[in-house]
Amino acid sequence: MGILDLVPAGVITGHNLRKVLNYAKEHKFAIPAVNCTSTSTINAVLEAARDIKSPIIIQFSNGGSAYFAGKGLSNAGEKASILGAIAGAYYIRRVAPAYGIPVIVHSDHCAKKLLPWFDGMLAEDEAYFTQHGEPLFSSHMLDLSEEPKEENIAICLKYLNRMAKIDCLLEMEIGITGGEEDGVNNESVDNASLYTQPEDILDIYRAFSGVTDLFTIAAAFGNVHGVYKVGNVQLHPELLGKHQAHVQKHLGLKDDKPVYFVFHGGSGSSPGEIATAVSHGVIKMNVDTGWFHDLICDFGGHFALILIFRHFLDIKDTQWAYWLGIKEYYEKKKGYLQAQVGNPDGDDKPNKKHYDPRVFIREGEKTMIKRVQEACKDLGNVGTL
Ligand SMILES: [Zn+2]
Repeated sequence: MGILDLVPAGVITGHNLRKVLNYAKEHKFAIPAVNCTSTSTINAVLEAARDIKSPIIIQFSNGGSAYFAGKGLSNAGEKASILGAIAGAYYIRRVAPAYGIPVIVHSDHCAKKLLPWFDGMLAEDEAYFTQHGEPLFSSHMLDLSEEPKEENIAICLKYLNRMAKIDCLLEMEIGITGGEEDGVNNESVDNASLYTQPEDILDIYRAFSGVTDLFTIAAAFGNVHGVYKVGNVQLHPELLGKHQAHVQKHLGLKDDKPVYFVFHGGSGSSPGEIATAVSHGVIKMNVDTGWFHDLICDFGGHFALILIFRHFLDIKDTQWAYWLGIKEYYEKKKGYLQAQVGNPDGDDKPNKKHYDPRVFIREGEKTMIKRVQEACKDLGNVGTL
């Protein structure tokens, strides 16, 4: 039985979302989440997933959302980010059924200072729920990992209570994201600052599961978002299995994988590391990270010079893939792209069909499609419909 036997094509939320996540956990694959910033990139992702018969997650970062609405708009009060994410979600809702695949629409990292963005999207979800009985978005992410754990959990719980009423899933993050280098013990797997502790996962699970089961946890297991020199941090996806066992034991659960885990910053990982993570309940993996760009901007770009982000590995992925097709097209057609009229075939020959954006942007979409399909293969998400 495939996923389309369980849920319809189009954007899925609530109970249908739960069914797909459980199916992925049970069949040991994860669904890639691809950051999109335009209808062109959204279409590429939908086409990629359709052609390998897989569900897909499309997510909007804060900066990507503002871009979707238009760079010419002011983002004061997060207004452009709110508008862009909502417009993107409506766009996906309209086109996804035509592609015949289930799609999860998600908003990416939202730090404490960006909460007005979250509030704006959630208000739209609630309005949509009143009309349609489901939220506009399938899920949202709150990244309060830089705050103290108690505060992280408390703020998430406040939102989770609201989201549970409209069947919207919350993704939260626990673990290091900061820029500190001090106190890093490279030897110890149990270093609390680099690896989320089983007690943390238990605290979150206990608090959240009293409200709903629609939540996912992005835990740190060496997949740092922070600024660490390469080689300082080892990936330990097997820790996720220990977290699952810890939660199961302490809460006396039947399910040996009660937690839905999300893998951030994992695109540079080996197939073995990914497989281990997935076998321990990772059901979503971020493939591209629009927030990386935002983060660099926040810190003035200084960190990039001296330190390496593991997330940097993600950057080469879909953004580069999209650019690569356009770059190769330009190199191949250079002589036909220098003027509206006149090319190697003759001074009076028109070039319209070569510089039409539908032609060169399509080349970027083609290479992005390939990259998204690779990500699906890495995660075992092929032919799952
Ligand atoms: Zn993250």
